[in-house]
Amino acid sequence: MNRRKFLSYVGCSCCGFLMNSCATAPITERRQFKIVPEAKLNSQAAQIYEKIKEKEKLINDSRLDEIKNIGNKMENSISEYFLQSNKNDPTINFDWEYILIDNKKIKNAWCMPGGKIAVYSGILKITENTNGLAAVMGHEIAHAVAKHSVERASRGMVLNVSTQVIDILSGGKLSTVNRTTGMDTVGLLSQLGIMNPFNRKQESEADYLGMIFASLSGFDIRETVKIWERMKKLNKGKAPPEFMSTHPSADNRIKKINEWTNEIILNYPPINIS
Ligand SMILES: [Zn+2]
Repeated sequence: MNRRKFLSYVGCSCCGFLMNSCATAPITERRQFKIVPEAKLNSQAAQIYEKIKEKEKLINDSRLDEIKNIGNKMENSISEYFLQSNKNDPTINFDWEYILIDNKKIKNAWCMPGGKIAVYSGILKITENTNGLAAVMGHEIAHAVAKHSVERASRGMVLNVSTQVIDILSGGKLSTVNRTTGMDTVGLLSQLGIMNPFNRKQESEADYLGMIFASLSGFDIRETVKIWERMKKLNKGKAPPEFMSTHPSADNRIKKINEWTNEIILNYPPINIS
């Protein structure tokens, strides 16, 4: 899949009425509407991240080491990729940090704007192995690298009122997502929309970029589709994994990931760090 084919899949979001606010997402070059300053969002995220570290029970053992190890590889590979491509590194202002939260019930992970990452111990059963964990982390990191929260916050400034109306009209779908996660930090996370679903284009872009980042970092991205299949299997039970609540899945998604896998392996092999 080349960039053009990716764009034809996700479509092109247009933001013609405020041309100065137009930017493009890295690699996919999907057009984005971004008017909220990234620095502002990053500093808010960092503050909330600190509060979460105080509130939640953190794990500090070899599992966290593995998360940091995967993350460090991705940080370096992402920066190196943009350096070698002669493009601006979208992570230049990131202050990467990783925590593992002790909560077996929550099968989720997220990456806040600016590279503040959390993995819940519950998702480790689904990721099963290093490549699986790299797939989930790559996806979450991709949301941050592609500045999806900046996009959402920017739209929020324009569409704030109508979003609230939509939420009420749709039976509070966004609030339901928050409720099903059962987290006491959910209020904090909601402030940034971390636990709310990204839109379909952003999800697809995070799948695509996440696989690229994992591949550049030397992980086996053939595991990615297996994660989604394991999620799907779990979803047949009573309570779907949170990762699926916030990352609505579909067979179409699994199909796309399958289609992308070989081309990404070929076009984005493990990158040598100079
Ligand atoms: Zn996602």
